[in-house]
Amino acid sequence: MIERLLSPDSSFQRRFFFIARRFVAGERIADAVEAVRRLNETGMSASLDFLGEDVTDRQTATKTTETYLAMLDAIASSGIRSNISVKLTAIGLLIGDDFALGNLERILQRAHINPDPFVRIDMEGSAVTQRTLAIFERAFGEYENVGIVLQAMLRRTPADVERAVALGARVRLCKGAYKEPPSIALASTDDIRAQYLRLAEPLLDRGVYPGIATHDRRLIAGVKEIVRAHGISRDRFEFQMLYGSRPELQRRIVAENYNLRIYVPFGTHWAGYFYRRIAERRENALFALSSIFSR
Ligand SMILES: Cc1cc2nc3c(=O)[nH]c(=O)nc-3n(C[C@H](O)[C@H](O)[C@H](O)COP(=O)(O)OP(=O)(O)OC[C@H]3O[C@@H](n4cnc5c(N)ncnc54)[C@H](O)[C@@H]3O)c2cc1C
Repeated sequence: MIERLLSPDSSFQRRFFFIARRFVAGERIADAVEAVRRLNETGMSASLDFLGEDVTDRQTATKTTETYLAMLDAIASSGIRSNISVKLTAIGLLIGDDFALGNLERILQRAHINPDPFVRIDMEGSAVTQRTLAIFERAFGEYENVGIVLQAMLRRTPADVERAVALGARVRLCKGAYKEPPSIALASTDDIRAQYLRLAEPLLDRGVYPGIATHDRRLIAGVKEIVRAHGISRDRFEFQMLYGSRPELQRRIVAENYNLRIYVPFGTHWAGYFYRRIAERRENALFALSSIFSR
């Protein structure tokens, strides 16, 4: 049963897409463009993500890269306000570093067709943290339109933040969505929150247009306080939230005149992403259950 659910091409999983619909914009590029258009109308920008990860065959990684190129064309021709986010394991990291870098470079070159040419490399589990950062730095040496994600829960991240600030690289700061052992990651919510705010300060104060990715009211309040204390203007950073997560908070942030970017995933490989959302918040699991029973 689990195997059937996890197989993205199965009609079985397709039948269950209605449960994921709140967090996933649709299965096709056109669905994602429409979702972004609606967000743009409410004052939010977006970052489009074509769902998929842990790809182990070249053909799929190449196809995913080509989907990204088509997404960039669609963003440019539709005029929506969106950049893109990409996972390196979706474009071949598990096949080889040079192969993934080559695919990333194709995306970075095509991204110049977009008024916002920026490409964010998502951060995945700790098995690929170092390789992801190394490929990011190789790409950043050649292309300025690429940025990275750092996870506040990892013990290594204070050093990674300093390195990114020194490089002048754009960072999205998030808590971290992957289950990690205590030897490399903080475990308690309070410790992760405290580290998040400690890391947000140098990024906001000395970094380049950081993305503050969280739905946590306490972190958002803490970041507003840092910004006030340092006299940082609102055009020097953006809040970022996930499609479908806490929409009332999203509207409030926009009403307060902060920049807000919504991460908009789409595609048929929604299972891994969807299960991470369910696992991290009881509210999300309850929502999924209620959508089953309200049918
Ligand atoms: C734009 C974006 C991009 C991301 N990219 C990555 C990435 O590349 N790599 C990665 O590992 N992770 C990524 N993440 C995920 C991130 O690491 C966290 O797993 C995820 O955001 C959950 O943490 P949180 O800080 O948003 O708040 P949570 O820990 O989910 O919630 C914190 C607090 O917020 C309140 N709250 C939250 N939801 C609700 C609700 N529905 N109703 C009422 N109160 C609520 C509660 O008080 C809760 O205690 C990304 C997240 C975002 C927003």
